[in-house]
Amino acid sequence: MKRSFEEGEKDDLAERIALSCYNQFNLLSSRGKPSSNEWTHLAGFVSVKDDNTIQVLSIGTGTKCLGGDKDERGTQGCLLHDSHAEVIARRALMRFFYEEILNENNSILIKQEKNKFYLNKSIRLYLFVSYPPCGSAAYVSDPIKRPKFEHKSLNASGEELYLKPGKGFQTTSLSCTNKINRWIYQGIEGTLLNQLILSPIKLSGLIIQTNTDLSSIFKDIPVISVKESFDYGPSSQRTRPCAMSIAWWAGLDPSSSVITVDGYPLGQVKKLRHKQQYANSIAKCSLFKLYLQLMDNLSSKTTTYAQAKALSSSSLRNQFMLDNPQWIITDPNIFYSFTLSS
Ligand SMILES: [Zn+2]
Repeated sequence: MKRSFEEGEKDDLAERIALSCYNQFNLLSSRGKPSSNEWTHLAGFVSVKDDNTIQVLSIGTGTKCLGGDKDERGTQGCLLHDSHAEVIARRALMRFFYEEILNENNSILIKQEKNKFYLNKSIRLYLFVSYPPCGSAAYVSDPIKRPKFEHKSLNASGEELYLKPGKGFQTTSLSCTNKINRWIYQGIEGTLLNQLILSPIKLSGLIIQTNTDLSSIFKDIPVISVKESFDYGPSSQRTRPCAMSIAWWAGLDPSSSVITVDGYPLGQVKKLRHKQQYANSIAKCSLFKLYLQLMDNLSSKTTTYAQAKALSSSSLRNQFMLDNPQWIITDPNIFYSFTLSS
């Protein structure tokens, strides 16, 4: 009896997490939201306290990924290649973490000493996704979506790696299933923020709106399916994917959500695209700027993004790369050689 009660509690919490993400999305301004015949996907990172109160930390929507022909070289870290909902939500979460640290308003990341933080021990972190993530999870849920020619399937330590489909050109971005599994393994904080925390930030669970059991796809983490569906997901009325992505994080005014189209801020004129001061606030260069504000031992003028990334010594990351030799790695010396220009 006790066990079923706990199971019921868990399911109820998962449904409430899904609803909290939908509600947060509904609070955002209409900018970047799908029109009546368009659909999108939603992802959100949420914290849950010991008493099961939920806080949505970040939200992402989006369905697009730029092809591999869109070269990041020379873009000064302003271009976003991958605008799938999960990836946008994670970037927004990074932004939230940096702002928490910089504003010394540490409720989620707790300060132990200068530039050493840990995840608040009284909270658990979950990722919610409004659909089975692209790649293996999507294919298991709907075999019709099995990869066509534009996907590339590689075998690496038993897990299949899939590239995201792109328009025209193949992308160089791995599927969200692959990326989420990497976050589950090594922590979600990434190589820059990793240098500011004491131990990797691990997810406590993955919550997915689906009828399919996806626990064999996402191993080593509880995977909970929820029923409550996203009003803006694909349907008979909503037949076209929305080209815009929305990012929001806790602390950002809901009317100021960050909109990305084709990798750049909505409406931005071409001549400003590679100027970092006009970049999307979740772009690499923008997060790099926040990182350098904290790392006062590094020169903000001469340190390249690649050099900053190389300072991370995450043993889990190193192990992940050893276990996944075919993981797509961007050559940092070519693509991440930019510095901050202002
Ligand atoms: Zn995806």
